[in-house]
Amino acid sequence: MILNSQIDEFLKNFTPTLKINSPGRINLIGEHTDYNLGYVLPSAIDKSIIFQFSRNSNASKCNIFSEDFDQLFTFDLSDVQKGELMWANYLLGVVYGIHQHTDKLEGFDCILKSNLPIGSGLSSSAALECGLAFGLNELFNLELSKLEIIQISQKAEHDFVGTKCGIMDQYASVMSEKGNALLLDCRSVQHENVPINLEPYQLVLLNTNVSHNLASSEYNTRRNECAEGVDILKKKLPNISSLRDVTLDDLNVFHDFLPKKILKRCQFVVEENDRVLKTKEALKNNNLNKFGRLLNESHQGLSKKYEVSCEELDFLHDYGNSKPYILGSRMMGGGFGGCTINLIHKDHMKDYIPEVSKAYKEKFNLDLGVIPVNLSSGTTII
Ligand code: ADP
Ligand code: MG
Repeated sequence: MILNSQIDEFLKNFTPTLKINSPGRINLIGEHTDYNLGYVLPSAIDKSIIFQFSRNSNASKCNIFSEDFDQLFTFDLSDVQKGELMWANYLLGVVYGIHQHTDKLEGFDCILKSNLPIGSGLSSSAALECGLAFGLNELFNLELSKLEIIQISQKAEHDFVGTKCGIMDQYASVMSEKGNALLLDCRSVQHENVPINLEPYQLVLLNTNVSHNLASSEYNTRRNECAEGVDILKKKLPNISSLRDVTLDDLNVFHDFLPKKILKRCQFVVEENDRVLKTKEALKNNNLNKFGRLLNESHQGLSKKYEVSCEELDFLHDYGNSKPYILGSRMMGGGFGGCTINLIHKDHMKDYIPEVSKAYKEKFNLDLGVIPVNLSSGTTII
């Protein structure tokens, strides 16, 4: 139990020597393609967690203060294991992972503060893990590569938090370069930068502020349905190892072999993967109308074929679809709640936001969250 007086004492004596900006991320397109070893198109955004660090005089005692939770967490490097305090587990997992690589860690102090919405699908969790890993790497000259920072962070979330996340969130948070999205190949874990100029449009996330509890069970069901599709198709196409290897032509030829529901799931994944590649081309050619259409198609697929949307997300998508100044929108993330991502003409934001907020409130008696986002660079020293 940390007393308020100890927190005051800690804050008074803290003199940072290193400051890190660790951003959240959005995914422009490519939903549920990651675990099918396909493509995603994420980017870091201009909302982040700021970390401040200093070494302390102790060989093994570490203090981390989250301003957002107003909690100080203290632990010893000789005894790093997960505990009761959930937010600290993300960080303990990172320290544990770094310990596996090197014995160069010593006692440190850290303060973090976020302007990322927490638990809304902008990956505050990856920002938290990667910011700590990146900062400790600098503070103690650990010589970890960016990929090692990403992998340690992902493993922390698997082993210390229990969320079996893919690699996209950490990868985008660390690797993004300003003005670009990352076309990430989830099989090879390599990326290509895709330059993006959205003028005169703005990306805006609309947060439903709902999170239906179907999300994690249906997520597992979808993973199993995709695996079942691959198992059946393998009998006809022995060279495939994931839906990434299947084409729309393959599905047209062999659709009779797949149960109806499995066919729909497979169609969505194969089409979505194809949409990511088409989006890359559209963005390279500055064809924002095409990008908008692909966003809309993605939403239709997620809602009708993959069946991971919900009434609130569909409402926001449909509402925006009727407006000529919104080029496209889709649900973002695993589904059953969270945000839609919308491409809105800047001149119409001031009219549209109050209008859709009012309509959403009338329909669901819920406040709509509004988060304008700009693409930004990955983790940096500031
Ligand atoms: P998301 O990554 O979409 O924001 P998650 O549920 O994966 O949502 O991660 C949110 C969790 O990450 C929080 O519940 C908290 O444990 C941790 N977290 C995020 N930001 C902070 C912060 N600023 N301070 C402490 N913990 C944080
Ligand atoms: Mg997360």
